Amino acid sequence: MSATLASQVAAGEVVERPASVIKELIENSLDAGAKSIHVEIRQGGSALIKVTDDGAGMSEEDALLCIQRHATSKLKNVEELFAITNLGFRGEALPSIASVSRFKLSTRTHEALEGCELLVHGGIAHEPRASGLPPGTSIEVSELFFNTPVRRKFLKSNETESAHIEHQIRLHALAFPHVRFSYKRDGQTIFDWYASHDDQARIASIMGTGTAESLLPIPETIGPGMCVKGFLQPLTEARRSKKSQYIFLNNRPIDDQFVNRAVRDGYGGLATGLYPALFLHIEVEPSLVDVNVHPSKKEVRFRRQNDVAATIIEAINLALQAPISAKSAPSQPLQFEPKDQDLVSIKQTPTKEETTSTVQIEKPELSTKQAPTPIQFAKPTLRPLPARQSKLDLADRNESTKDVINQHPTSTLPNGFVYLGQLHQTWPMYESPEGLVIMNPKAARERIIFEELRQLDKTNTPSQQLLSPIIIDLDPRDVATIKAMSKHIEASGIHLTPFGNNTIRIEAIPAMIEPSDTKQFFIELIDKLSKSTQMRANTSVAYEQFISELAKKSAQQEQINPSLYPQILGRLMQCEVPYCTPQGKPTLIHYSLADIKRKFGQS
Ligand code: ADP
Ligand code: MG
Repeated sequence: MSATLASQVAAGEVVERPASVIKELIENSLDAGAKSIHVEIRQGGSALIKVTDDGAGMSEEDALLCIQRHATSKLKNVEELFAITNLGFRGEALPSIASVSRFKLSTRTHEALEGCELLVHGGIAHEPRASGLPPGTSIEVSELFFNTPVRRKFLKSNETESAHIEHQIRLHALAFPHVRFSYKRDGQTIFDWYASHDDQARIASIMGTGTAESLLPIPETIGPGMCVKGFLQPLTEARRSKKSQYIFLNNRPIDDQFVNRAVRDGYGGLATGLYPALFLHIEVEPSLVDVNVHPSKKEVRFRRQNDVAATIIEAINLALQAPISAKSAPSQPLQFEPKDQDLVSIKQTPTKEETTSTVQIEKPELSTKQAPTPIQFAKPTLRPLPARQSKLDLADRNESTKDVINQHPTSTLPNGFVYLGQLHQTWPMYESPEGLVIMNPKAARERIIFEELRQLDKTNTPSQQLLSPIIIDLDPRDVATIKAMSKHIEASGIHLTPFGNNTIRIEAIPAMIEPSDTKQFFIELIDKLSKSTQMRANTSVAYEQFISELAKKSAQQEQINPSLYPQILGRLMQCEVPYCTPQGKPTLIHYSLADIKRKFGQS
């Protein structure tokens, strides 16, 4: 098999369409340390693809080498194959591309006085020529697939190929915000994204400010040999398509099932078919990941899968639980004002510092760009969990559990809200100043209970003594989980004593749990806790995760009287993160007037 033919065969793998050429060329530019990359195409890339960078450039010798197969400069021995940090390393891309196109390489190192130009036509190289050039590299690929007509026929319309190319450049631009990317299509500049050290600014220029504004930062989360960070939207903003989810592993876009599942779990595992925008950057020690399980490198294999999943889940949980930061909030905060005298006035800001009796809580999701004035909500009653002694008998407990949600049943709706009725006897609907709001009462209660638990003194969660303690036999791994979590379990009002090997005795449980459900509640809780390997005792994350589980369980058990819906909505609006449960499930669905008009074709 001739070298050219071998390259053409390899090209079948590497060069699928113009966008894959762009991908290989941009990766090479990034590997060469480029700070600015310019892409130009004509006719969907089939007439011309040109990528110009200001990276390290090549000597004439290297330029000649790089168009030969397996002439990578990035891999010196077999060990390195297992510790790859560069984007490319197989030395296959350039010869492959050159074998199916008219190829021109112009390059100059920063030290050299002049550069060189190299032409390859259908895999046949011409003599290099000296040429005056700026430092860096420019590669022109003309008439892609001119000598493989069947492949050329498979190209889609120019629009489709251009769309793939643009998507490809976006991926790189999101992964490398500190690199400038510009793009010209058929002579017209489509974008020019300047280098930025602010990742959110780069996202804003690529995805639009609307998306960027609704993002919550994912705090840098460290796991064993890895680190996760980025931005995400809460589930309430989710779409049905995965198009706005961008996941990068060591700066390479991936679409890996295992990672995708961890992301879903991070959102509470409930988000099947829902995809909030996500910009997730995962850095993993190269020795802990194999990126070569799939030719397109979109699927990867981790050596320590569980650590990876746990770190991703923890990072997403942290992002969803953090108070909405000023940065990600819209410019127009909503104002909450006390209206009725008898309503408890709570002075609360995201920083929990008292200012005035006017409460300003930033609520990005309900504010639309069109609303010029802040929306006024009445200040509804805040009903904290009752402060109670830890020993209560059963009857006493049943009373006070109800009063958690039965207080002030006449409480009013937030200002500007009108109750419309109940959808399928399940979901109350409200007219809001900006459109239509549908509430999920259980999810709302989950959020409220969670925030109330969080505010309580952690060692003083209301607890009830069981009349007859419950004995449970457990798997040794469950017992290990319980031991690791014992501090948090105790703090949440669950009192356990060991009762022989792998058997425990439950003596008291949180006040809001129905005693007859103790066993089921506890087993479910432990299952959940042992599955989430991010549970590390002593971290506040573990505690948050724990109380979020607790909140979920107690909300599930509550019988909510519909007359309490207004109060729940009001209370929900006072939460730090009102629009989703601690695990990311939406509490409210909002249809803005603009959305509704758009759907009816009225703009
Ligand atoms: P790989 O990227 O897998 O090494 P390629 O065929 O993509 O293989 O590139 C071959 C080699 O050519 C690279 O290893 C690098 O040394 C050199 N090269 C390619 N593109 C550039 C560029 N834009 N700037 C500097 N060197 C480059
Ligand atoms: Mg390469």
